[in-house]
Amino acid sequence: MALSVLSHIDVRPAEHRVSEVERKARMANPGFGKVFSEHMVTVRYSEESGWERGLLQPYGPLMLDPASSVLHYGQAIFEGFKAYSQPDGGVKTFRPLANAQRFNHSAERLAMPQLPEEIFVEAADALIREDKTWVPTAIGESLYLRPLMIATDAALGVRPSREYLFVLFASPAGAYFSGGVKPVTVWISEDYVRAAPGGTGFAKCAGNYAASLVAQKQAKSEGCDQVVWLDAVHRTNIEEMGGMNIFFVYNEGGRSVVVTPELTGTLLPGITRRSILELASELGFGAEERKITVNEWDAALKEGRMTEAFACGTAAVITPIGRVKSKQGDWIVNGGGTGPVAAKLRETLLAIQHGLMPDTHGWMHEVC
Ligand SMILES: *Cc1c(COP(=O)(O)O)cnc(C)c1O
Repeated sequence: MALSVLSHIDVRPAEHRVSEVERKARMANPGFGKVFSEHMVTVRYSEESGWERGLLQPYGPLMLDPASSVLHYGQAIFEGFKAYSQPDGGVKTFRPLANAQRFNHSAERLAMPQLPEEIFVEAADALIREDKTWVPTAIGESLYLRPLMIATDAALGVRPSREYLFVLFASPAGAYFSGGVKPVTVWISEDYVRAAPGGTGFAKCAGNYAASLVAQKQAKSEGCDQVVWLDAVHRTNIEEMGGMNIFFVYNEGGRSVVVTPELTGTLLPGITRRSILELASELGFGAEERKITVNEWDAALKEGRMTEAFACGTAAVITPIGRVKSKQGDWIVNGGGTGPVAAKLRETLLAIQHGLMPDTHGWMHEVC
């Protein structure tokens, strides 16, 4: 069996590869997170020997002891970033180091070990090189990378695990919205909170999502696509959406200003959020991070001071918000359509990611 050696990862690819016809069929309409490429990378950690050498191997089920602590107490974190096909046929990832750093912030909060950033990035590079044919080529399409870490001690005592497993796999992702970007309707959750001060809101941990699902279900039953979370203490400040950060566009004397809730420790610090704040000023928009209340959202729309609202995150890049619902009422943003600021930011970000505009920030990481 072929075995090539990188500095941290041994490469042992599948002997039988998926045929081109089969791969093309699977990639024809991949949606999001339903189709997976042929390989994955695993790296084991133990308290005694630290991180072992990683292994790139065929994608497949993991074997876990039923007593593995992740299955009981939820020590689990993850990340998400994308690889984009470039005009010269190469592939680049978007800000993978920022994801590696955030992964370690999440790990610290969950009492998990730090993973050296170079292992995180090298694992992704190795997987993308091996599965390069799984990187879609159309604009807006990408190969989504999903790194995760779980606690694997087979022990029921409640304490940090002494053994962990890092796993990285990849999923070809279609243009999130087929047939153009569709504005979403959001539900302001008043019955549930996502994160409280001192909790895990800033960490990308599995439990945050488990705790959010019932609110997402409620949003669906109210005819909405996504939840908007409020702060746990006052229940007035807007924090973020289910898996995306949120932006508001104000008209201040003819100039568009993008405003996003400030990071308080309960919000997830999105890399798309950070990138948009940087891009906005370059595009001539104002950019601010501050508190925004639900009442202000409503009032600013009624007074014509707010022109747009949108959500942002790796999966969907930028999604306009067309309508807002809560127990108090219902309001429309920007006539329910996509606004020019959201459209401009989305187009600029995608152009940088696909190598159609110069990468002046050093955001793109060359893989192959
Ligand atoms: C991942 C995530 C985001 C978006 O982060 P990006 O780095 O932009 O993808 C926002 N909110 C939550 C809760 C998340 O888990």
